[in-house]
Amino acid sequence: MRHRCASVLVVVAVAVSLTGAAVVSASLQRAHVAGSLAADLDRIGTTAARLHQQQDRLALGAEVAPDEVMGLNRELSDELAEVTPEVGDLDPALQALLRTSAAPVVAPSSPGDPGVRSTEEFRGALDAAKARARSEADAAFRRAQVLLWVMTVVVLAIVLVLGVRVNGLVRVAVRRPSRTADGHLWARVAHDDELLLVYHADLRGLRYVSPSIERVLGFPLADFAIDPDPRRFLVEEDLQAWNDAVAATTSEPGGHRRVTVRARRLDGSELHLEADVTNLLDEPGVAGVAINARDISSRVHLEADLAHQATHDALTGLTNRLQFTHEVNAVLADTEDHAEVAIVLLDLDGFKEINDSLGHGAGDDVLVTVAARLATLSRRRDCVARLGGDEFAVLLVGDHAEAVAQRIVEALAEPIELVEGPVTVGASAGVVVADAGSTVASLLRDADAAMYDAKRRGRNRVSVFEPAMHDELVERMQLRSELDAAIASEAFTLVYQPKLGLEDGSVEGFEALIRWPRRDGSVTAPNDFIPIAERTGQIVPIGSWVLRTAVAQLAAWQRQLPDGASLTMAINVSTRQLSAPGFVDEVRRVLVGNRVEPTAVTLEITETALIGDTDEAVAVLSALRGLGVRIAVDDYGSGHASIAYLRRLPVDVLKIDRSFVAALDERTDEAEGYLRSITELARTLRLDTVAEGIEHEHQLDQLRALGCSSGQGFHLARPLSPEAAERFLSGRRRLDAA
Ligand code: C2E
Ligand code: MG
Ligand code: MG
Repeated sequence: MRHRCASVLVVVAVAVSLTGAAVVSASLQRAHVAGSLAADLDRIGTTAARLHQQQDRLALGAEVAPDEVMGLNRELSDELAEVTPEVGDLDPALQALLRTSAAPVVAPSSPGDPGVRSTEEFRGALDAAKARARSEADAAFRRAQVLLWVMTVVVLAIVLVLGVRVNGLVRVAVRRPSRTADGHLWARVAHDDELLLVYHADLRGLRYVSPSIERVLGFPLADFAIDPDPRRFLVEEDLQAWNDAVAATTSEPGGHRRVTVRARRLDGSELHLEADVTNLLDEPGVAGVAINARDISSRVHLEADLAHQATHDALTGLTNRLQFTHEVNAVLADTEDHAEVAIVLLDLDGFKEINDSLGHGAGDDVLVTVAARLATLSRRRDCVARLGGDEFAVLLVGDHAEAVAQRIVEALAEPIELVEGPVTVGASAGVVVADAGSTVASLLRDADAAMYDAKRRGRNRVSVFEPAMHDELVERMQLRSELDAAIASEAFTLVYQPKLGLEDGSVEGFEALIRWPRRDGSVTAPNDFIPIAERTGQIVPIGSWVLRTAVAQLAAWQRQLPDGASLTMAINVSTRQLSAPGFVDEVRRVLVGNRVEPTAVTLEITETALIGDTDEAVAVLSALRGLGVRIAVDDYGSGHASIAYLRRLPVDVLKIDRSFVAALDERTDEAEGYLRSITELARTLRLDTVAEGIEHEHQLDQLRALGCSSGQGFHLARPLSPEAAERFLSGRRRLDAA
């Protein structure tokens, strides 16, 4: 009923428009004809005036030939005919006038002619005709104007009625906005880049597809007339989400859902659509489920980029620490048997040295190479992460974690080709296998304990976590914070172990050895905290304190004790101190500040710390020697430094490792052979030798026989407090005097 009414209105509107247009057009034509007639008459007037002048000229001439007059008349007739070609359109009086136009003009030459008109008569007729034509043109134009107004008003009225009554979609557009989730449906319907789809009430297919589908998805609109199925563009995996949203909205009057799905254009390229599904089943004009969808691909890609940045390490592209913990959580939640979940934690050995000596660019290249090797060794399901610095982790699912860790450690031991040349880093790996109570935090903590254990046992090793390691870890962490407090309050002491000349038993000097007295009265030995302090970097402030204290003690003894001037002091230095900026300056300042001769101080660096060390270490040692300070290789023989390497090092003293001296107890040729070759090597390289750990008289005898110049050991003297050291010195003198 409503539709019929609308149809009638449409017909009326069309009829009114057509009739109106016809009438207006007729009136305008009339106005035009009358207007152009007035213009023609103007031109006739001008022509006639010209002819009258000619006629006057002829009339004045005495000898005017009659055929000349005829010729003039014909000329006028022709010209008038040309001016007003549609003579039939003119008013009858004027027509008559024109037909006889030739006669009146030449009237004076042909008296008695019945059609004769005077010039005045002709002009009067012409002016009257012109006035009539003009007023007719004006009237016709006014009529057309009035008609046009009337017609516009009628058509507008009809359009207004139609706007409210007819097309259901338009009606939705006008009324729906306030009820849709984010408004302005009309704007969206009209928007070029949006799709509007309307499902049939029974969801059997699309009833309406907006033409914008051609722009958005590249499908010809006609395709949907044949097969109105959205599956033609929806990516199969997302079809369910789409259908669910449509179904859920359908069951809820006035309901709305928003769903994001992937779609495929006709050319196969993928895009992301954000679709607003709105239940308009109750809207008479629509009676369906309407979907407004728009392409949000660029937003999705941007979001994906941001998410990637938030979850990945920028340098290596591996998962970052935060995301790694999420992944571990997810795997723990998804895996019934936790024993299948394992973490391998890796810490590079020697990375810091590469970074310090070759620069951060080289360091970055090493990290990228390590990341690539880890990615190659892991399977798709494994998650490889860079946790920070030179620490990496792999999350594994399966029962082969230790074997994977072993393969990783082997792969990372292979040299890495840098622009600067090949370098070798190793890795220490800690493996932990999850159990029922595991959490991300507990797994990472235990993997760290295992990794630390691997590091402690030497480079390129794998350790699998055991509960005992945990206790060590706790202890270590506690120790670390207690060390911080001890550094702040300088709660360390030094003991001094005498070094004697083996030939004459004279006291050459002392080696400063650190001790850490604890609150419970116990004393912690350096081996129990120096390695930790080296790992944490705490060795740098500790080492500074040792240097200041030992040099000050030497200065005091040199000044206060009789014969003290020749005393020397050996100070142990860690490689972390050597690579700390400003170490050489620090040594110089301490020496100058205490007015101590640099040659009286020997810095001891253990052989293992020197091995594999870089040119930078050599440069620092040379600079120290440049100050006049002596350099000793401590524990020589324990680290298998090659002779070639030793030659390169700027050193003055070899301190023979305790194990060689101890081996003399076996009284074998082999033990003696080793010692002989070391002392000979030292002689060849012009280095002094100091034997460590002399505990027995026979060792002393043998070392003396081998030509070893100096020695230390419990048999000679234990490490002593400053007071005991002073007593030791004065006792020796009494002994000498005796
Ligand atoms: P080291 O420099 O080789 O010092 C000699 C170590 O051997 C000392 O242990 C000393 O007490 C011990 N010793 C001396 N004579 C004998 C002996 O006849 N038999 C046995 N079994 N041992 C003997 P200490 O004081 O426990 O120091 C251990 C290591 O800790 C040192 O080895 C040194 O590498 C390091 N250290 C000590 N003090 C410092 C320090 O101030 N700075 C640094 N960086 N390291 C230090
Ligand atoms: Mg030493
Ligand atoms: Mg030593």
